[in-house]
Amino acid sequence: MTTAKIIDGKAFAAKVRARVAGHVARLKEEHGITPGLAVVLVGEDPASQVYVRNKGKQTAEAGMASFEHKLDAETPEADLMALIARLNADPAVHGILVQLPLPGHLDADLVINAIDPAKDVDGFHISNVGLLGTGQKAMVPCTPLGCLMMLRDHHGALSGMEAVVVGRSNIVGKPMAQLLLGDSCTVTIAHSRTRDLAEVCRRADILVAAVGRPEMIPGDWVKPGATVIDVGINRVERDGKTKLVGDVDFDSAVAVAGAITPVPGGVGPMTIACLLANTVTACCRAHGLAEPEGLTA
Ligand code: NDP
Repeated sequence: MTTAKIIDGKAFAAKVRARVAGHVARLKEEHGITPGLAVVLVGEDPASQVYVRNKGKQTAEAGMASFEHKLDAETPEADLMALIARLNADPAVHGILVQLPLPGHLDADLVINAIDPAKDVDGFHISNVGLLGTGQKAMVPCTPLGCLMMLRDHHGALSGMEAVVVGRSNIVGKPMAQLLLGDSCTVTIAHSRTRDLAEVCRRADILVAAVGRPEMIPGDWVKPGATVIDVGINRVERDGKTKLVGDVDFDSAVAVAGAITPVPGGVGPMTIACLLANTVTACCRAHGLAEPEGLTA
């Protein structure tokens, strides 16, 4: 029985952050520019508070300016829109991220589409979605960008490979499929209505799982030697403890795959690293400077 190579997302994310920090230092030294990231949090969702804290910490560690805006859960939409307009106009802010989900009275599409697309480091603005879909220079959503970086690092060129993405969300599945298509994979997007999902998965050289169902994909859905990227983050109770598991049944898949990302420690750490990468990219574009190598799609 073979055992897959474990793709260490934690170590790879540390490398990406180091590359970002190096570029930030050069921007300061050679151009007197400090890239800045503004994060807007509305309300007190505990998971969002943890994400925002980590984002702020890692932004500062990379040498960038971090601006945190914490707004009351009852904040009227007009106040949030006014803050976004101020951040759009602020030359010290190169990236703006509005932490999702927003409280129910706020229209997330309206809010995201109010961000200047050039500062939309989450890549969710409709202009960036369109640019990515048409193969033009876009701000690319962080999680799929992280997956693409890991795949390129492992395989080199992806051209001609069969890729199956399970999940069609706007945040992960669809942009992931666009990126793989951009790298000349033959791409299938599967979802809850896909017929014979097991057979569809079995043809994948690259299998990306972005479903949100604990250990839904067993090892016998994986083609021998395939690369498995598990985006899922699911909390389950095991032996009286809360444990994080992916969408792939790691123990059976690791015996079949050629390479696999673990959960935790796979895709997860890459997401914030790519947010920092996108902020540096946005800063370079804003100042007409060369973009850092290997940090964009
Ligand atoms: P969504 O809930 O938005 O989308 C889930 C997708 O999975 C949908 O397209 C849905 O299909 C599909 N799906 C659901 N059930 C099945 C099934 N039985 N068979 C096939 N497809 C199915 O989730 P996200 O894309 O936002 O997130 C997916 C996972 O990734 C979650 O676990 C999330 O926590 C994790 N995540 C991790 C990140 C990270 O940093 N590592 C970042 C973002 C997400 P349909 O459209 O037909 O309903």
